[in-house]
Amino acid sequence: MLGKMMDRQLTLDLILERGGRYFPEKEIVWRAESGVHRYAYADFFRRTKQLANALKKLGVEAGERVATFCWNHAQHLELYFAIPITGAVLHTVNLRLFAEQIVYIFNHAEDRILFLDRSLFPLLAPLLGQLPRLKTIVLTGEGETPPAPAGKALLDYEALIQDQPAVYDYPALEERTALGLCYTSGTTGEPKGVLYSHRSTVIHSLAACLPAVVNLAETDSVLPAVPMFHANAWGLPYSCVLVGAKLVFPGRQLDPASLIELMASEEVTFSAGVPTIWAGILQLLDQKPGQLPRLKRMGLGGSAPPRSLFEGFRERHGIEVFQGWGMTETSPAGTHGHVKSSLPQSGPAHYDIRTSQGIPAPLVEVKGLDEQGKEIPWDGKTMGHLVVRGPWIASGYFNNPSASEALLTPDGWMRTGDMITINAHGYIKITDRAKDLIKSGGEWISSVDMENTLMGHPKVAEAAVIAVPDPKWQERPLAVIVPKKDHSVTAAELRDYLLARMAKWQVPDRFEFMTEIPKTSVGKFDKKVLRAKLT
Ligand code: ADP
Repeated sequence: MLGKMMDRQLTLDLILERGGRYFPEKEIVWRAESGVHRYAYADFFRRTKQLANALKKLGVEAGERVATFCWNHAQHLELYFAIPITGAVLHTVNLRLFAEQIVYIFNHAEDRILFLDRSLFPLLAPLLGQLPRLKTIVLTGEGETPPAPAGKALLDYEALIQDQPAVYDYPALEERTALGLCYTSGTTGEPKGVLYSHRSTVIHSLAACLPAVVNLAETDSVLPAVPMFHANAWGLPYSCVLVGAKLVFPGRQLDPASLIELMASEEVTFSAGVPTIWAGILQLLDQKPGQLPRLKRMGLGGSAPPRSLFEGFRERHGIEVFQGWGMTETSPAGTHGHVKSSLPQSGPAHYDIRTSQGIPAPLVEVKGLDEQGKEIPWDGKTMGHLVVRGPWIASGYFNNPSASEALLTPDGWMRTGDMITINAHGYIKITDRAKDLIKSGGEWISSVDMENTLMGHPKVAEAAVIAVPDPKWQERPLAVIVPKKDHSVTAAELRDYLLARMAKWQVPDRFEFMTEIPKTSVGKFDKKVLRAKLT
């Protein structure tokens, strides 16, 4: 027997209408070259509907991918909503990728219309000749207007929307309609397109507001430091509009000092990004504490944050840091490292839990599988392959049958490519990406663990550990070290430090010193580049 409840389709208009109608006074702030700008949700609501009408006028069709190549700002937020409510697909292109990957992504997605920041025009201009399907470019943001490139129409965003009606007639969309397309950054091969649906996005946005996930409320002022071209800025723009939180977009200035300045002036209460950004912020706060009295919580993810960040922010500045594990394929909320009330709330045991990736978000299921496909025990020791399942987890990739087939287990769980252990409380710990694990003499060494230990050394700013081939042991770890500014550190010092904290056979034989570790397009250590350089 079926229940007798309405089947209201879970589509994005629900989020837009709630934010726009009930929080018209709330602010949206963005930093541009000319300074900090702001408008109200009421303006955002009106302009988004004008933009949706403009898209219709441009002939945008249902299912068509419409690309954005933009930093984090209010026009990008308008695009986040306007494109999907027409039934088209918001395709956020990662502007930090290599040229060949960008060309591949545009051509694979078959974008016809592109919204492009003026400041990014020079970056894309040399590639436009390789994008035959792209016909119309709409310029966003500030700066010079370039001449129209050969074979493309060039429009201005503000001119496009200004005369459009502020009333929008939403088409009735089925909730499984595609909403967004985001290609994984390709640290693991050719970029693959993850295709979010209205339903997955609405449920993900709702869940993200829960205390067990990101914990967002109308009273928050939120600065997404994660780019809007990466996994929908972890869904924060949608969740914030859903609850009516103030949004603060940093534009392209993502250096620690600029972020601190904006967070202070806009009284930011929550921010999120990859760990590399926050190490710099912690250093500046340590030099001058008290700069961010309103900042209460921070969400870190994308790679394992070092313990020193959790401890430093909480103990010295009263800022609670938690980490989330996720992937573009998981929208990205997967697991979160909040510490349950029955577990230690302070001391080393507390930080042991914080440095794990936590328990799954509500509605997400996770398990670890051994080589035979059997579930691993919750003993905190046995390592297994992490697989996940849930309403906002990818079931395949856009126009890519072979990668789609490889993604799922025969019984429908998604393979993540990550290796984990699970402790007695169900907290998972990512020991590595399967391909980054180091196998030395038949024993596994976790590069993530060793990196975190090394980054706990007072003179180390960054540490990345990779496997190098070894005739005797098969593989040995090699540590790449970036000392803190104005510090120097020797291999002998680091070896002694590690010997006090891990087994002798795990300690690297080789240390390399660099001024910076190469990073991927989204700010993670790029081990592919390190391997090519050092092995
Ligand atoms: P890419 O696959 O291009 O790196 P993603 O941003 O989707 O793009 O990366 C997802 C991966 O990042 C995960 O599979 C995992 O290896 C890693 N990751 C994400 N969050 C964490 C975390 N909190 N701790 C450790 N690793 C993480």
